[in-house]
Amino acid sequence: AKRTGGSSLAFFEAHMAIDAADHLQLQSDLRQALEDNQLELYYQPKIHGRRHRMSGLEALVRWNHPRLGVVGPDTFIPLAERFGLIVRLGHWVINEACRQVAAWGNEGRHMRVAVNLSVHQLREVSLVDSVEEALRRHGLLGSQLICEITESVAIQEREITTRIFEGLARIGVHLSIDDFGTGYSSLSQLRDLPARQLKIDRSFVRDIEGQEDARAVVEAVIKLAHALQLTVVAEGVETQGQRDVLLSLGCDELQGYFYARPMRASAVLGWSLDAST
Ligand code: C2E
Ligand code: CA
Ligand code: CA
Ligand code: CA
Repeated sequence: AKRTGGSSLAFFEAHMAIDAADHLQLQSDLRQALEDNQLELYYQPKIHGRRHRMSGLEALVRWNHPRLGVVGPDTFIPLAERFGLIVRLGHWVINEACRQVAAWGNEGRHMRVAVNLSVHQLREVSLVDSVEEALRRHGLLGSQLICEITESVAIQEREITTRIFEGLARIGVHLSIDDFGTGYSSLSQLRDLPARQLKIDRSFVRDIEGQEDARAVVEAVIKLAHALQLTVVAEGVETQGQRDVLLSLGCDELQGYFYARPMRASAVLGWSLDAST
């Protein structure tokens, strides 16, 4: 396959038809991206439902590719994992998020940011140390950082996750279980999840207005989470109707295009919650 335009990278991803030459090219592109600062974190606000104000932000990585333009993480995170670059990339993300939070702090805004962790990062013995080091370097409190891992990783890697959680808890960083509802954990596993927060997957939020069963699932998850002292975030909130249902069910925080799309760091301080939301 020959790369010609912006859609070709997505095409490779979809078909996994990367030949050896492309593989090498992309691998060196990604290495270059890490060296040349082509990666950028975008930030999407999380809204505190009851207080109706921003409770924090999620950092979402983008690749400003010199020829392909802005490439999304669903395309290149799997490549980074395959090429053994994800630990370096993840390290960059943690450090960059901390740097940005410190910069906002210098502007008088105390922020809390969530970063997404890949399973490969959890397997690194030095993860907690490097998180601690990034916090220290930028003069942040542990409570200004949240680490998100997906439910399926949390369940499959129970021992590692528990160890990491304990390490993170020691330095004040909370663990959040992402894409909740897609990992098929049982009730007992939910009880044992070493986390402070659950993020309900977008697929449930999407159906919450029209489908009674989606609504029932979300209601049950919120009740259970609260019984276990976990806070609940709904992701992918796109409509006022979804927001209304989620708030009526007692969801703690909301995130989605209804409030804001992920934005550049430079746009964050100027962003404010629309009165109509
Ligand atoms: P995620 O952690 O589940 O992040 C939510 C994704 O949904 C983001 O896509 C976000 O832009 C998108 N989104 C937010 N609100 C809405 C909405 O209302 N409607 C719809 N349709 N989508 C919404 P994005 O930024 O493309 O990220 C995709 C995935 O890539 C993330 O899913 C996460 O798993 C992964 N990812 C992103 N940044 C990083 C990172 O720094 N490290 C790692 N390991 N993975 C990352
Ligand atoms: Ca996430
Ligand atoms: Ca998610
Ligand atoms: Ca996801």
